[in-house]
Amino acid sequence: MDPAIFRILEAKRYGRTLGRDDIRAAVAGAAGGEWGDAELGAFLMAVAIRGLEAGETRELTLAMLESGERWHLGREFPGLGDKHSTGGVGDKVSLVLAPLMAACGRPVVMLTGRGLGHTAGTADKLEAIPGVVMEFDRDLCRRALEETGLAIGMATGEIAPADRRLYALRDRTATVASLPLMTGSILSKKLATGAAAIVFDVKTGSGAFLPEPERGEELARLMVDTCESLGCRARALITDMSQPLGRWVGHAAEVREALDCLEGRGPADLMEVTYALCEELSELSGGRLTRADLERAIGSGAARERFERWALVQGADPAWMKAPKLGTAPHEAVIAAPRAGRLAAVDTRRLGELLAGAGGGRTKPDDAIDFGVSLLVERKLGDEVDAGDALARLYLRREDAALVKAFEACFEVGDEAAAAVLIRGRIAA
Ligand code: URA
Repeated sequence: MDPAIFRILEAKRYGRTLGRDDIRAAVAGAAGGEWGDAELGAFLMAVAIRGLEAGETRELTLAMLESGERWHLGREFPGLGDKHSTGGVGDKVSLVLAPLMAACGRPVVMLTGRGLGHTAGTADKLEAIPGVVMEFDRDLCRRALEETGLAIGMATGEIAPADRRLYALRDRTATVASLPLMTGSILSKKLATGAAAIVFDVKTGSGAFLPEPERGEELARLMVDTCESLGCRARALITDMSQPLGRWVGHAAEVREALDCLEGRGPADLMEVTYALCEELSELSGGRLTRADLERAIGSGAARERFERWALVQGADPAWMKAPKLGTAPHEAVIAAPRAGRLAAVDTRRLGELLAGAGGGRTKPDDAIDFGVSLLVERKLGDEVDAGDALARLYLRREDAALVKAFEACFEVGDEAAAAVLIRGRIAA
């Protein structure tokens, strides 16, 4: 037993405020291996139960950030922006927002990740493009920014190594959903690139990690305040995830839908959330872009062209990029309305889990993903339906009647239902 570690654990166990050195000791112990899994697990649980004050969350984030490389790219690319989503089903906003902002002259670096639980990750989706490299180092990131105004990739081991260990332990100790731990984990990686501004898309509703709007707002407030306290401008929108965003869910299908958006054929809900996030981010990083600016960048083809240039710099096969093939798995099953009425509720988390279980995501970290397994949403919340109308279409690798039944159970048709409110709140510093 190390008396110094014991004292820190005991202090948080009894709800006392930890000092800067205590927090730094725990983070250094995670990164360097001096703290064992038992000690770190106890630390995480004490933090999850007792919470952290704003100053402690800031110190935790800073210590985790300083445990690895910092790229300081904001010095070379003024107004460098980033966007983070807390994750959802069908959430392909990043794939549209980054090239759109870049086409408007606003550089975007997006440090992203793989799928987590019922949500698919941006990095996994983009790997549906043959050749694209998602593990990037500072050189590739810098080059993509210089040549295209955008860079999207995953944190390597050099960025916030403390988070790697802490995140794996959180997964084992039921402490993933702690707001200060989430804040430290997310921001320590995001801030490592040196972005000057971040917009957070905090999802709420049945497909969100934090379904209750109050918890989402609490996380948004904590992330915005912590970010600003560390010198990075920040804002958050609380957006709806009570049904999939856009029409398609599934890796290849989501890339295809993102390309549709960039070609001016995007579904209204997805475009609305994307535009709103672009407006917020641009305001923090060089002056607010108007809706007309954004629509012009799409209408002119500039945003679509940025996406293509970006993909090529990050390794995409040029022949494939000329005629992208982003097909669906071959077996179509219709999810039909059991009665006439209105679409009243969607169990969006379950939809994501079922799709992942069918091969369209990961249930274990090293699972291979079937990019073609997908879901097409035909009706949105509040829409009127007749009995037998298609609510959604499922694309599977093989027929599976039991699975189709499980998908059907995710949709509820009732007598009355309202359309979802897409943007439920805005959190500014
Ligand atoms: N993503 C992260 O990187 N960390 C979290 O804690 C949650 C989501």
